[in-house]
Amino acid sequence: MKKLTLSKRCEYIVQAEIRTMSIECEKLEGINLAQGVCDTPVPMELQRGVTRAMKMGVNSYTRYDGLQILRRAIARKLKNFNGITADPETQITVSGGSTGAFYCACLALLDPGDEVILFEPYYGYHVNTLDAVEAVPKYVTMRPPNWDFSMKDLEKAITPKTKGIMINTPANPSGKVFTHEELRGIARLANRHNLYVFTDEIYEHFLYEGKKHISPGALPELKNRTITISGFSKTFSITGWRIGYSVAPTAELARMIGYMNDLIYVCGPAPLQYGVAEGLNKLKPAFYKKMAAEYFEKRELICSSLKKAGLNPSVPAGAYYVLADVSRLPGKTGKEKAMYLLRKTGVAGVPGEAFFHNPKDGYNLIRFCYAKDKKDLLAACKRLERL
Ligand code: PMP
Repeated sequence: MKKLTLSKRCEYIVQAEIRTMSIECEKLEGINLAQGVCDTPVPMELQRGVTRAMKMGVNSYTRYDGLQILRRAIARKLKNFNGITADPETQITVSGGSTGAFYCACLALLDPGDEVILFEPYYGYHVNTLDAVEAVPKYVTMRPPNWDFSMKDLEKAITPKTKGIMINTPANPSGKVFTHEELRGIARLANRHNLYVFTDEIYEHFLYEGKKHISPGALPELKNRTITISGFSKTFSITGWRIGYSVAPTAELARMIGYMNDLIYVCGPAPLQYGVAEGLNKLKPAFYKKMAAEYFEKRELICSSLKKAGLNPSVPAGAYYVLADVSRLPGKTGKEKAMYLLRKTGVAGVPGEAFFHNPKDGYNLIRFCYAKDKKDLLAACKRLERL
């Protein structure tokens, strides 16, 4: 009899190491610095907006690309903060978080076998999403402490099958913030080889020490080929709400991304879309400034504790993760070292191999997330310092 089997694509989809470490951490009742769950409070503007929406009857399916009030609020934010002009009626698709937005963009724009170049250390979901649509990830390695990369390496990674370049700025896990010069270099190659640029800007408000966020899609030489992806999980501490979006350069691309979104999600959760729109419309620049300042303080706390523990941190310029050099810990792999650290201190981080296609490149790194309530972060820092 014919055997009931899994699909072939399951062979290369593995459970994210981040989730595995979170499970281990829970078993040992440790402090979880593995997963990027911001447990800071949700701004009242959003909470009130959601309640109001539910009472007003905003509880049904919305248009597949999202509520008009939210698309318009996103378009305003794109113009004022990102320097991107997008028509809210035709270019923006609200989706199931930025994760859903990227997945829908990949389904709409990539064929099996198409290559997409990623900068490593990378965010694992980017690779897995490409795998899921049977696209082929290719890698360009960035080097600490500034996570620079060589344009020559990028050029070498381009083949006739290359269809896109993925940028994540500020980046998870490195905290790298792409410079104008780097983006212009990428633009030259993208134009020469006619490539899409996918950019994940979920950490666009988390930059430190005067660093400025530059949206690749705001560069004139990139605006016609860039799919800008972002979301509100991090900015508003609503990782469980699942609201993100993509911006496509043309209505035609946006329509197909939107159809994919319709197929998978139908639409984002209606009252939550409304709440996010209220947040975007009502919160002032001071809110974002204060948030970045609070995260800067948290970055300083954890980096100082890591130094004291002899786990040299590569101080991030943005986002809210830090990669620490854990070569002094016992164990051959990052996983062994992360498990040692968890057992010894009760603090969970993510083994470095989760961020490199060649696992060996990550064996001496652990990523810690400092998007934590200050009390928990201080407790974790104390534990690390005892190492
Ligand atoms: N992109 C990056 C780079 C991330 O680090 C994360 C969260 N870990 C996400 C996307 C997920 O965002 P969302 O909740 O909007 O799907």
